[in-house]
Amino acid sequence: MLVIDRYKCAYCGACISVCKFNANELVETFVRVDEEKCTLCKMCVRVCPMGAISVEE
Ligand code: SF4
Ligand code: SF4
Repeated sequence: MLVIDRYKCAYCGACISVCKFNANELVETFVRVDEEKCTLCKMCVRVCPMGAISVEE
């Protein structure tokens, strides 16, 4: 599953624009991931400037 470190996230929205599956959204002060939609393609992991997103087995 996709894990977002809330303390590293700067709410820039880059991970949301890059997601082709509309699997994540910015909700107030955190990024929420819809696990049913997320394909773990890792595009958001690559674009996050803060290194806040990781994939956990
Ligand atoms: S891993 Fe891919 S599908 Fe999942 S939230 Fe990131 S960009 Fe979207
Ligand atoms: S790309 Fe990274 S810093 Fe930007 S909103 Fe997504 S998780 Fe937060």
